[in-house]
Amino acid sequence: MNHDIIIIGAGPGGIFAAYELIKLNPGLKVAVFEAGHELSKRKCPIDGDKIKTCIGCKTCSIMSGFGGAGAFSDGKYNITNDFGGTLYEYIGKKPALDLMRYVDEINLKYGGEGTRLYSTAGSRFKTECIRNDLHLLDASVRHLGTDINYIVLENIYAYLKDKVEFYFDTPVVTVSRENGTYNVITKDKTYSCDKCIISVGRSGSKWMESVCRDLDVKTNSNRVDIGVRVELPAAVFAHLTDELYESKIVYRTEKYGDKVRTFCMNPKGSVVNENTNGIITVNGHSYEDPAKQTDNTNFALLVAKHFSEPFKDSNGYGESIARLSNMLGGGVIVQRFGDLIRGRRSTPSRIQEAFITPTLNATPGDLSLVLPKRILDGIIEMIYALDKVAPGTANEDTLLYGVEVKFYNMEVEVDENLESVHKGLYIIGDGSGITHSLSHASASGVHVARKIVEK
Ligand SMILES: Cc1cc2nc3c(=O)[nH]c(=O)nc-3n(C[C@H](O)[C@H](O)[C@H](O)COP(=O)(O)OP(=O)(O)OC[C@H]3O[C@@H](n4cnc5c(N)ncnc54)[C@H](O)[C@@H]3O)c2cc1C
Repeated sequence: MNHDIIIIGAGPGGIFAAYELIKLNPGLKVAVFEAGHELSKRKCPIDGDKIKTCIGCKTCSIMSGFGGAGAFSDGKYNITNDFGGTLYEYIGKKPALDLMRYVDEINLKYGGEGTRLYSTAGSRFKTECIRNDLHLLDASVRHLGTDINYIVLENIYAYLKDKVEFYFDTPVVTVSRENGTYNVITKDKTYSCDKCIISVGRSGSKWMESVCRDLDVKTNSNRVDIGVRVELPAAVFAHLTDELYESKIVYRTEKYGDKVRTFCMNPKGSVVNENTNGIITVNGHSYEDPAKQTDNTNFALLVAKHFSEPFKDSNGYGESIARLSNMLGGGVIVQRFGDLIRGRRSTPSRIQEAFITPTLNATPGDLSLVLPKRILDGIIEMIYALDKVAPGTANEDTLLYGVEVKFYNMEVEVDENLESVHKGLYIIGDGSGITHSLSHASASGVHVARKIVEK
């Protein structure tokens, strides 16, 4: 079972690597191994009716399968080096931006045409933010929306499926090295290849760590971001979201000097559950189709935590906090900002009486029993700071869902080609700890494909 190149993981990193390899050299024998299902078979059983919460499927259709974690995402492709990963540290700032623009062109070609590209360039909000000690990060963002993002994936799959061998529902057990070639070992068979691209994303983080251990590839501990998802009437942020769609705003707290940032803004969107290794956290998305939009906007407020000695397990820390919310709420907890400030829990009746209808069926409770004081204080300070540029953010009825955790993979040691110490073994996308976004992960796939073909 010999291939020129085997790609492990069919998320944006793996897909764009396959796309570029085949485009540059159609003669290459490329195979993609994916633990999850093909796109059309990816269905989360939660229907809000018979099945209301996560039942722990063998492979999570939200996180795994063709399209990876991004398949049902909001499809926000941010073209920036300011956030979304540190790819530019490896390949340079301009090449990184050029690759993200190239990915954007492909997305447009495969169904994204007509979607809007928003930009912070020349925005008057930059000045307004800075006057209030808030910092708006620079970016262009292509918003595909969950619906168009899916269509783009369908079209790219239709293009690739006869040119690349796809093995779905085939988790790779491990990778070994033998005389300069790689063995990709699955439950039933072993496949060999000259070059192996690993792109296993967040869901493959533990697997990635074990492969790095086995192959003696160095890793460095990374950070974890912890916070809440805020949901409020869309009108509160409309002046920002109409112009910028997503605004990434950073605030340094007065109390501790911690940085709190907005993340993943979804105008007229919905709050959703996310299952990471069996732990239920919260996320959000929105649709391009007006028929599927809601009256609310949601975004995360996150505080980054780094650990050094003696504790290094940032993800373990984040997991423990998320587990605590799952223990108290049976899943995600929701609380009105007014209740949090008064030091009382939210109850079903308090949520029902609010002037906002939650888009996620979460358990009313008390987030102060879950989040560490320092993190909660930072979030509260940020809400008051945002209230100055978006009055209404600190309203009584603003909903806070918790917890939202952004786990980061250990950063894997690779060179400027994203190649590990072992020649021919490339580690890309979120699985490498270098990227944390659709655009950066996709760009890393194109980069590696070009380097391989160049060689
Ligand atoms: C709900 C949600 C919304 C999001 N919204 C956005 C957004 O709007 N904008 C943005 O920039 N980012 C967003 N993100 C993050 C974005 O989806 C990821 O950054 C991106 O998908 C990373 O791409 P990747 O290819 O590195 O990894 P992934 O997309 O995670 O893909 C990795 C794939 O590898 C497979 N895999 C793992 N282990 C194995 C194994 N052992 N064998 C075989 N296959 C394996 C997995 O099943 C998965 O399909 C969102 C994430 C989620 C969950």
